Amino acid sequence: MSKSPESVAVVGAGLVGSLIALGLARKGYKVTVFDYRPDSRDQSSGKTNLRSINLAVSARGIDAMRYVDEDMSKEALKGIIPMYGRMIHDTKGKQESQIYGLFGESINSIDRAKLNESLYDQIDKFNKLNGDLKIELKFKYKVKNVDLKGVPTVVCVDPQGSDKETDVVKFEYDFIIGADGAFSQVRSSLQRYIRMNYSQEYIDMCYLELYIPPGPNGSFSIDPNHLHIWPRKDFMLIALANADGSFTSTFFGPWKLTESLKEPKQITEFFTTNFPDAVDLIGIDKVVECFTTYPKGALMHVTCNQYHHQDKCIIIGDAAHSMVPFYGQGMNCGFEDVRILLQLLEKHKGNRTDAFEEYTKTRHEDLKAILKLALDNYNEMSTKIGYSLF
Ligand SMILES: Cc1cc2nc3c(=O)[nH]c(=O)nc-3n(C[C@H](O)[C@H](O)[C@H](O)COP(=O)(O)OP(=O)(O)OC[C@H]3O[C@@H](n4cnc5c(N)ncnc54)[C@H](O)[C@@H]3O)c2cc1C
Repeated sequence: MSKSPESVAVVGAGLVGSLIALGLARKGYKVTVFDYRPDSRDQSSGKTNLRSINLAVSARGIDAMRYVDEDMSKEALKGIIPMYGRMIHDTKGKQESQIYGLFGESINSIDRAKLNESLYDQIDKFNKLNGDLKIELKFKYKVKNVDLKGVPTVVCVDPQGSDKETDVVKFEYDFIIGADGAFSQVRSSLQRYIRMNYSQEYIDMCYLELYIPPGPNGSFSIDPNHLHIWPRKDFMLIALANADGSFTSTFFGPWKLTESLKEPKQITEFFTTNFPDAVDLIGIDKVVECFTTYPKGALMHVTCNQYHHQDKCIIIGDAAHSMVPFYGQGMNCGFEDVRILLQLLEKHKGNRTDAFEEYTKTRHEDLKAILKLALDNYNEMSTKIGYSLF
């Protein structure tokens, strides 16, 4: 008689949760994914994600996607725009290219929502091809906690219930993976079972998104194959290309400065002095609208250790290590977590505790290093790259 497949719950259908779900299913696990959001492909759901609409995917992330499935990665990465270097904009609007490598190395701009949705499409495709071993996507299920005393159990707010506090539904699995982002409930639950070292630190910096519209006939008004940076030491502006000829631009600055820019006159003066060519691209009315009405995002840094409890639960992605975005590696690192965890589960087949233990032991130093690089890279992006010596 054949053994029934091991069951796993993935909490979080973000980028990392979706990729690990695909990776586990391809290795023969029976996977259920929970997310409190509705399926973003459902037109009636409305867009709920306010975070950066495009990101840089690098070799680290692409390797992990390829490890999960070469064909899947090709499809999901369709339409990425390679960025072969930085384009530095000075205060006079002069541009200077700084290439990343001598052999055409690049990082790549990709639409965050499209990438997430194409991972959902890949899950649907997997389900069509695999009769019994389907990945179940449970949208609109908010996980309250996970119970790890006995059989690992996911406790959710009952989407059909009338009371969000008391009406819960419970689901049992062989193990649980927390990929539920920086404010992870799975991590909070895990802390009750293990002596987890944990720190969370906000940096005095916020971000605000702006938008550079496409030029005539969908053309790019600046070079799409560069990461555009307006480095101004205490604050900076960046822009990454989108496939439709537009750019997503992000302003980073200290909270005090950003919040002091309230009046249209002040905002106009600040922008025309510091980013004159960006004003031409975005339009001053739009800049004022963004500063006065768009949400400002906080930036934080989360580290913890260890990442697992016995063979019952482990956390990956931002749930385990949320980093500031200046190195463009948060998602890439989360994808790398997926590759490493899948490889260790394969290596220690039949002994998940060993796989989880080796993961915690070998992964922590690398994660600590990249979190530090992410913090340090603000100085490089905002200041150093503006000096000719650099
Ligand atoms: C401004 C900015 C720019 C960035 N740029 C880059 C970049 O260029 N490159 C890069 O690699 N990274 C970048 N990042 C980082 C990247 O966005 C994150 O590292 C990545 O999104 C983490 O993915 P995740 O799946 O671990 O978590 P998330 O994307 O946060 O997904 C978590 C999922 O869990 C769900 N969830 C949360 N709580 C619950 C619950 N209780 N019950 C059920 N579901 C739950 C959420 O709805 C969500 O779908 C950037 C971040 C910011 C803020």
